[in-house]
Amino acid sequence: QSAQAGGDTIFGKILRKEIPCNFIYEDDVCVAFDDINPQAPVHFLVIPRKPISQLSKAEDTDEALLGHLLIVAKKVAEKRGLSDGFRIVINDGRVGAQSVYHLHVHVLSGRQMQWPPG
Ligand code: 5GP
Repeated sequence: QSAQAGGDTIFGKILRKEIPCNFIYEDDVCVAFDDINPQAPVHFLVIPRKPISQLSKAEDTDEALLGHLLIVAKKVAEKRGLSDGFRIVINDGRVGAQSVYHLHVHVLSGRQMQWPPG
């Protein structure tokens, strides 16, 4: 899957509003929405509008963007009342079990997480 030219992935389609999706947060840099297949009572994704395919393809000039994704993740978590904590996950590539090649931050909560994750 390529994430070029506005994002040739399902998330590109979501960003271009070609498929319906309820954004729980949006700004000039990123959007957040609930995962379609939640792995916890709360499971949302924060994705940049810029179609970076995966974390390992991010560049030094993406530093502010990457920081912004985490700040937005924690702000949306606050808004969702996740004061007892949450888990952030970024899957990268085949070994990381990435399935959608448009960078995204998973935020999971609402149940006790385990470590190591397996
Ligand atoms: P990955 O394995 O790439 O880190 O995770 C991709 C995530 O995107 C999965 O948790 C999957 O459920 C979610 N997802 C895939 N397609 C859609 C979609 O069309 N809408 C939403 N809201 N989530 C999706």
